[in-house]
Amino acid sequence: MSSSYIAAIDAQAQRVPDAVAFCNSRGESITYAELKRASDALARWIANSDAVASGVPVVVYGHKSPLMPACFLACVKSGHAYVPIDVVYPRDRVASIIDQLGETVVLDTIGAIPQMLGDQLQRPWFGPDDLAAAIADGAVEKGESAAEPQPVRENDLFYILFTSGSTGTPKGVQITTECVDGFMDWLAGSEIMADAPRVWFNRSPFTFDVSLTDMVCGLTRGDTLFALEDEAEKSLALAFESLGTSGVTDWVSTPSFVDQCLADESFNAELLPSLSHMVLAGEVLRPETVRLAQQRFPGLRVFNGYGPTESTDLVTLCEILPEMLACDRALPIGYAKPGSRLLVLDPQTYEVKPDGESGELFVVGNTVALGYWGRDDLTSAAFGACPPELAGGMRTYRTGDEVTREPDGLYYYHGRYDLQIKLHGYRIELGDIESTLCALPEVHMACVLPAWRDGAISHLVALIVPADLQAPRGFALTKQLKRALRERIPAYMVPRAFKYLDSFPLNPSGKADRKALAAAIDE
Ligand code: AMP
Repeated sequence: MSSSYIAAIDAQAQRVPDAVAFCNSRGESITYAELKRASDALARWIANSDAVASGVPVVVYGHKSPLMPACFLACVKSGHAYVPIDVVYPRDRVASIIDQLGETVVLDTIGAIPQMLGDQLQRPWFGPDDLAAAIADGAVEKGESAAEPQPVRENDLFYILFTSGSTGTPKGVQITTECVDGFMDWLAGSEIMADAPRVWFNRSPFTFDVSLTDMVCGLTRGDTLFALEDEAEKSLALAFESLGTSGVTDWVSTPSFVDQCLADESFNAELLPSLSHMVLAGEVLRPETVRLAQQRFPGLRVFNGYGPTESTDLVTLCEILPEMLACDRALPIGYAKPGSRLLVLDPQTYEVKPDGESGELFVVGNTVALGYWGRDDLTSAAFGACPPELAGGMRTYRTGDEVTREPDGLYYYHGRYDLQIKLHGYRIELGDIESTLCALPEVHMACVLPAWRDGAISHLVALIVPADLQAPRGFALTKQLKRALRERIPAYMVPRAFKYLDSFPLNPSGKADRKALAAAIDE
């Protein structure tokens, strides 16, 4: 079966050809008719390009231009999974992803890759001019010899999203066509859908699974997506200026971003008079955020969504109701997505936990990813841990999240079993930063810890044992380490504070004693 998600978007070109499918703060936009024409033309060009081997994943680089969704669609329409890479990724990370993919090609919507990678770019590359020419050329009827693009099918990969990996190398989550179609079917009938036409805020980068929510909700029924381009993200004032003319009705973002906006009093119903729905996902949603948002936007309906990239974005969702805000406990993360089975298991014995008792959440069903690209070791640890008698022949994913299911079917999140964190909405493996630090010549040992404020992580602190214990440890060393990190990992992963020690306290198994070190950062 081919993708019903692609078919649903294409159908809008017939239904509402002149409606804007995607627009951004730069005033760039693309209608549904143009989106279909561009993605069809690019798909035909990919299918007939000698540079693109059959079925290989295709990197799509850029941020929030209308060419991005057109390229994503073109890839899947020609039988290739797309791999979004955002401009926030530094050189080393981009190189690592391209390298891991092996045989791939790069569609560079902004033309920045050759300068960034230089000789390191060993794969075929196509810049914005190539893409524009392919779109212009593809609109012309092709001769009989031209190959017709064959779209991805049910069990083919649809996209690969690279997330932080604990060993310093990002890992590629492989999502199939079936995963995306199942996700779309759920959202289509969910309570977050209000009467069309709507304008969805496409806030999250395409490298973050939360962005799939508004793409699926908006593009499959002829609504408009609105996004902020680089320059409008530089300050809240600039973002608000653009948002003020956007007509956004449905807000999808992390709670952190809303908190940032709410800190400014001008974020209110005067700025966004049509805003009626807010879907918040990706990290803990605090009651104060909902209360303040509903004060600023009277009548606003707020939803909490939860889910890892590995289970195709969200697997639980619920509206935050007044009675949830009134009671003295954390907010629920939602009810399970119909069709995906959620198991709460003891993380050691894998026994099923009864309702009301906490355990590790395992996701079972067809929204679970195929595993990590080229990483059988990581795949078997995360996707092969669920006992087969509980899996019932379905794919499973161990989330690392501690949750409780209550008898009414609502799930509650309590924290992580491992060293993965969310900082301002970004998913980060602390081990990723530590491995990167340890690979630097100035560093002997490194431990990165979160610093907390008001129940949320405010920033990261790096504790370092320098390679040269006699060398000066002041501002100059910190500056040097931060600069080196910025070349290797995204800026949001670079710790704000650095502390230097002669040695680390060790726990009985000989590892750095993180609890003792956490006490040291409070001193
Ligand atoms: P990502 O793959 O970036 O979407 O991150 C997934 C992880 O973010 C989950 O495994 C949780 O640890 C966390 N997370 C996502 N949504 C929520 C939520 N609504 N509440 C608490 N934690 C969340």
